Amino acid sequence: MHETLTKDEMVIFEGSALSDGITIAPLYFLNQHSYDIPSFSIEVNQIQGEIERYRKALNSSRHDLKKIQAHLVDEGSKEGGEIIDAHIQMLDDPMITVDVEERIQKMMRNTETVFRTSMKEYEEHFSAIDDHEIKQRLLDVKDLSQRILKHLHPEPSEEIKVDKQPSILCDFEIKPSLVAEMGADEECGFIATMGGYSSHTALIARSRGIPLVAGVDLLSIRRLDVKCAVVDGFEGKVIINPTEEVLKSYREKKKLLKQEEAIVEELKYKSETADQHSVEVFANIETSADIKRLLGSDVKKIGLVRSEFLVGEEQISSCDEEAQVEIYREFFYQAQDYEVDFRLFDLGAEKECKGRSSHELNPALGCRAIRFLLKHNDILKTQLRALFRSSLKKKLRLLLPLVTDVLEIREIREVITEVHKELEVEDLDYNDQYTLGAMIETPSSIFMIEHIAKEVSFLSVGTNDLIQFVFAKDRSCPHLTRGCDEYHPAIFKMIQEIVKRADKCGIPTSICGDMASKRLLIPVLIGLGIRNLSTTPRNIPIVNKIISDTNYSEAIRVTKEILTQESSLQVKRLLGLK
Ligand code: PEP
Ligand code: MG
Repeated sequence: MHETLTKDEMVIFEGSALSDGITIAPLYFLNQHSYDIPSFSIEVNQIQGEIERYRKALNSSRHDLKKIQAHLVDEGSKEGGEIIDAHIQMLDDPMITVDVEERIQKMMRNTETVFRTSMKEYEEHFSAIDDHEIKQRLLDVKDLSQRILKHLHPEPSEEIKVDKQPSILCDFEIKPSLVAEMGADEECGFIATMGGYSSHTALIARSRGIPLVAGVDLLSIRRLDVKCAVVDGFEGKVIINPTEEVLKSYREKKKLLKQEEAIVEELKYKSETADQHSVEVFANIETSADIKRLLGSDVKKIGLVRSEFLVGEEQISSCDEEAQVEIYREFFYQAQDYEVDFRLFDLGAEKECKGRSSHELNPALGCRAIRFLLKHNDILKTQLRALFRSSLKKKLRLLLPLVTDVLEIREIREVITEVHKELEVEDLDYNDQYTLGAMIETPSSIFMIEHIAKEVSFLSVGTNDLIQFVFAKDRSCPHLTRGCDEYHPAIFKMIQEIVKRADKCGIPTSICGDMASKRLLIPVLIGLGIRNLSTTPRNIPIVNKIISDTNYSEAIRVTKEILTQESSLQVKRLLGLK
């Protein structure tokens, strides 16, 4: 597609928006230099020296990682700290310690060569296995081994030294510790070919507010003569060699974002439009650091807890009830004043679960979300038991992911009754007060709202999944069908239908997908009759500001016009985006 372009022409690459923000900067390709590390034989009397050198490199790596970890924890990124802690623990893994030392003795070659050989074998062995957990671990191991190599051989050209600030770092996969290491005041962005929303890298980028776009064809970008680029982490776009006009508009956007951030942190907004129509803003929570960000804000409710991130894959797949009780107790303690819509584990598709995910041809359409929970009864029951045991002072509002049929809701209710009985028999303290909510993320659930509303007390619209199902378009391959996105009139018609049906049933409904934080779309959602928006804590001040700048009557007028458009492109033009 880009072959015919002249090398410095503007080109837009679409990818997945994994972390918000905008960076305008030159590109820096990591891994572009090959390591030129010497490889040579050693004598018997050099073995001990090589082993000592290796141990020193491990110690220096530990020292680096501890520094990064402390800095992340200081910043409030507990999860980032935990990910780095896993790297620190890997330094004690026999694969890294004794295995390498023994090989130095056997192979009689310099440490770098032995270490690289070991790591290469490890990678080759595990990269053949199609398992999300192993892939994540592999990336963590690669990340760590580069750090160790850097200490063994301090001057390689690959060392990441970005002298021009700001910069956009590009790689096939971005390592989590690289995102963790960027200084808080350094302006940077990331582009990757691989990577999903639930990867460690994305989690750290979001918790640090660094833009990250994945799913981008870096090979094509490398063929271009890139003078400057823009990473748009809101829209999931990479713009190569932006024209003066595009650059100007992004610079203005960035300036505005900065100004707004400074202003909105000072100001308190009422949750209403300029002409006094109430629109509530709730928080989407993924990590405990997110809750801390809420403290002191005007937010009264947590509209979505992505519990699969809060708990983590290890404790989910091992059905570790006590570990979950501890996590939820801490969570409910921190969230004591908020009403919480707590989503049960949304697993499957890109959020694979160790040892449970079967190989599927179409994972996005496969055993996922509520289907996954009903199939893996032990995982569901463990979560429910832990939740009922840890929320004694709160009415539990359990949100069910990707509901497609009322029978699924009834089945969950049966499991809950079973769990309550078990806890009763075991004489454990538990909470028997709960209500259910359903995520509306598929066309089938929209058309069955009247029936679903008889089973649950609230609805939450997951537009991220809804968009992929409306367009039959995998959300991890955004470039598949250009223009089939959240600006498309088909999506607004769907939301209009949801509001019409939900209002008729009198069931409260919120939007918790990414659309709820898109500045140009917020007035449209309000115009469509949406009254509750749930977004990440970082976005709440801005979303509040946009609501208070919106005129309800004007929003209705624009929305009516939008509903008559034929394409996303037309809507974008109407909203002044293109
Ligand atoms: C959604 O699909 O819009 C949603 C909020 O859920 P998730 O992004 O976690 O799938
Ligand atoms: Mg979803």
